[in-house]
Amino acid sequence: MPDDTSQDYQVQIDRYAQKIHQSTSIDEIRHLLESALKEIHPPHAHNEVYLSREQVRHSEQDLANLRKELDQVRLLIHADPMTGTLNRRGLSAAFARESARADRHDTSLCMAIIDLDNFKGVNDTYGHQAGDNVLLHLVNLARETLRPSDVIARYGGEEFVILLPSTGLEPGAETIRRLQRTLVKNPYLHQGKPIQMTFSSGVALWKKNETEVSLIERADESMYRAKNALKNCVMTAPL
Ligand code: GH3
Ligand code: MG
Ligand code: MG
Repeated sequence: MPDDTSQDYQVQIDRYAQKIHQSTSIDEIRHLLESALKEIHPPHAHNEVYLSREQVRHSEQDLANLRKELDQVRLLIHADPMTGTLNRRGLSAAFARESARADRHDTSLCMAIIDLDNFKGVNDTYGHQAGDNVLLHLVNLARETLRPSDVIARYGGEEFVILLPSTGLEPGAETIRRLQRTLVKNPYLHQGKPIQMTFSSGVALWKKNETEVSLIERADESMYRAKNALKNCVMTAPL
């Protein structure tokens, strides 16, 4: 017969499972999974006299499953469903991680904001689906062109933020110009015909202790200078 500990454990697991089943927001699910992992402790080895090996193994399996689900939920919360890049929340988490790393190793960190030029025209001319495909095409080119350690996030409709760890301001701007050239050389093909796209970008170098909001503001301000110039160019933020 199972002892109290294993019964409590099962009751707690069932209670959480029911709550998770009833919840309607992914945020709530994440919260519940986090609480479950914090609060529920599987029956311990010292109860082995009362518990069969099988029961202990089941408990450990339950917990491992919870951890796996939490990882999947975290991925969902941080991803933009259409492009598979990070969303704003994912960007914030990546910024916290990368700025802490830059601080610890005394390395530089750049942020680029890119905004597609005259994108509304693509939707108007070719339809919304073609517009979506163009966004995905740009993301795929960025993934191929950038370093695996670079972070791509969708910041708004046709706006992306790229974090470039271990990269100074000029090399950062040069990387984004390379992506511009790649896009010009590899346009998205709509029914076999190229849709020529360009983007404008602002690049800013992170200053020690600078917040994400401030860095985004400076990159954004430079991006608007690029828009007001000729578009299809990269401007850097003053240090
Ligand atoms: P600018 O060069 O000044 O940036 O002009 P623009 O046309 O790119 O910018 P504007 O802000 O006028 O329009 C952005 C357009 O992007 C309008 C909106 O319908 C479109 N858009 C936003 N999100 C999506 C999306 O997920 N899919 C598609 N297909 N279009 C989108
Ligand atoms: Mg825009
Ligand atoms: Mg635009």
